[in-house]
Amino acid sequence: MVKIGALEAGGTKMVLAVYTLEGEELERLTLPTLTPQQTMPQMVDFFRAHAVDALGVGSFGPLDLDPRSPTYGAITSTPKLPWRGYPLLRELLGGRDIPAAIDTDVNAAVLAEVVRGAAQGLDSAVYVTVGTGIGGGVYVNGATVRGLMHPELGHMLVKPHPDDPNPRGVCPYHASCLEGLAAGPAIAARVGGDARELPDGHPTFDIEAYYLAQMCANLVLTLSPQRILLGGGVMQRAVLFDKVRRQTAALLNGYVNQPAITERIEDYIVPPALFPVSGLVGAYLLGLYAYQRRV
Ligand code: ADP
Ligand code: ZN
Repeated sequence: MVKIGALEAGGTKMVLAVYTLEGEELERLTLPTLTPQQTMPQMVDFFRAHAVDALGVGSFGPLDLDPRSPTYGAITSTPKLPWRGYPLLRELLGGRDIPAAIDTDVNAAVLAEVVRGAAQGLDSAVYVTVGTGIGGGVYVNGATVRGLMHPELGHMLVKPHPDDPNPRGVCPYHASCLEGLAAGPAIAARVGGDARELPDGHPTFDIEAYYLAQMCANLVLTLSPQRILLGGGVMQRAVLFDKVRRQTAALLNGYVNQPAITERIEDYIVPPALFPVSGLVGAYLLGLYAYQRRV
């Protein structure tokens, strides 16, 4: 039986799985993300023990995604210092010559949602995770967008809300970028407590929605995706969806005169269907496609 290995590599945990060719999950292993020296041997052993025939990886980044580059599949300038410059894909393969592919965690997630989830059958979609950080994956016409490096739409610059007590935000790189103003830690810094413990009616969620709506409006204006999927821990706060939808429509102000936005925005800005395994399923698909290209 052909087996496809999949890894979703995150900053706090690594999720590894083995799938059949058809996508049935056979095994799963979750490990905390420590240093490469501590975490990698168990991952290499897992895929070797299951004799996977191909491997797909969706990873935190930034990553080198150029297949012609000698450092293809390496993590590049991450603030997670032990992983900076680490040749993740090469080390995972442990010298085995099997088909393998890597993409960002969020690109893997958007791929999975297009193939099997909430964006099925669309030609274009964006998946954004709003959690400890903010990251976005972009899918257009059959492929995820990599471009110069890969999209980093979590760091798009946004206008501070007039009532935001912390308008610079908490990103060490940028003043007033989306991640610095709207990821979970930004909410925590704004209210001086854990975002999970706030009541739904807390005014910080209107500020939060204002930032996410700016992102959605900017995505509509730049990429014109057919659907935007919002996932991650912060989006488990379900009241955010309606606020984001309303503020997105208000910001666009009728300029993008499409019924998808002016009449049916509740079907346009939606939760992902495969959360929390969108990235893992996407990693399987990357492995599957690498396998199909080789045979
Ligand atoms: P990660 O981004 O590390 O993979 P998550 O996507 O689970 O993790 O996001 C974690 C963040 O989401 C934390 O900052 C947490 O406070 C926030 N969060 C989780 N649940 C909620 C909630 N119901 N309301 C608001 N924020 C939440
Ligand atoms: Zn930033």
